[in-house]
Amino acid sequence: MPVEAEPGAHSRPGAGRNAASTSDPPGGDRESLIGLTRAELAERLQAVGVPPDRVGMRAKQLWHWIYHRGAVEFDAMTTIGGGVRAALAERYTLARPETATEQRSTDGTRKWLLRFADGREVESVYIPEEDRGALCISSQVGCTLSCTFCHTGTQRMVRNLDAGEIVAQFLVARDSYGEWPSPRGPRLLSNIVMMGMGEPLFNYDNVAKALRIVMDPEGIALSRRRITLSTAGVVPMIERCGADLGVGLAISLHAVRDDLRNELVPINRKYPIAELLAACRRYPGASNARRITFEYVMLKGVNDSEADARALVRLIAGIPAKLNLIPFNPWPGAPYACSPPEAIERFAAIVNRAGYAAPVRAPRGRDILAACGQLKSASTPRPARRRATASPASAPAA
Ligand code: SF4
Repeated sequence: MPVEAEPGAHSRPGAGRNAASTSDPPGGDRESLIGLTRAELAERLQAVGVPPDRVGMRAKQLWHWIYHRGAVEFDAMTTIGGGVRAALAERYTLARPETATEQRSTDGTRKWLLRFADGREVESVYIPEEDRGALCISSQVGCTLSCTFCHTGTQRMVRNLDAGEIVAQFLVARDSYGEWPSPRGPRLLSNIVMMGMGEPLFNYDNVAKALRIVMDPEGIALSRRRITLSTAGVVPMIERCGADLGVGLAISLHAVRDDLRNELVPINRKYPIAELLAACRRYPGASNARRITFEYVMLKGVNDSEADARALVRLIAGIPAKLNLIPFNPWPGAPYACSPPEAIERFAAIVNRAGYAAPVRAPRGRDILAACGQLKSASTPRPARRRATASPASAPAA
């Protein structure tokens, strides 16, 4: 019997059994509906017995409840009949990942360590400004790349996150601010930066699916202009990302010579600086109104000379660009030190004089290891042999 036609159906989870719900989903666990497309939600509704002529309407309602209202229980979905709610609750879940820890910095930055169903963990960080803020979202557990200045880079790659696990990081942060229903005006969680653990362009399909959900105008409705995806330089995927998603692009550049960048950002051996910048020049939608951000971590005596600054200006000539100078944020065992303030100021001044905005990013959340390049969750570290290349002694002189 279709659940929509069930007489006397009520909303208690587990009630309203129907033909489709008599067998448990594989593994006995309920599947999460977070991260599914509308078409996939429609399939799940059909699977619990919603008649085909109502599936579209119900999928729209479900979407509204999950992403506009932030519902965590099917019971709360009062526009959906009790029979359908009960059938959904029997088979599916809207549960968030477990918050293993939540830390708050003295500067207001918050960091969540989130644990997924398989026990794997990632970190997400919320960086508040006065009346808005950015959530830094992870895309992988660990990272395949071993950027030598990055704490995540010392952690083995465990797996990609699926789209639901990426979206859920946003939902958890929203829950903690109680910012539901999704505001149409100013909001505290106003921006997303895909700059957490992992290389998002190595998990492109899941990242793209998650960002489309976040941008959907009937749900969270975050504008693509408020989303920035940061890559270490997966050149073949950069243009596609811009064409598909139209989000802002940030490049983890960090060096102006291939020999140094090969060491700091080892993917450079595969896609050297010239190829990376050529991909930036082709990035769809880049303009003076939508400039590409080049991230540049300031490492004492490694990449912070005035000659480096001048070379940087020459490299990015012709690209609508802004610089983001990041004072190095130390982590336990880090092989680098942060450039002194005078060196950063001199570097910024040269870039500024060339016509590029070059704000120095104020470190946020350093006291809770939530700042740029400091994220890490518990997993097996990489073998020491792979990290040994990061010794300052091996860094070419600046
Ligand atoms: S900087 Fe990004 S790509 Fe490089 S190791 Fe860290 S998380 Fe991975």
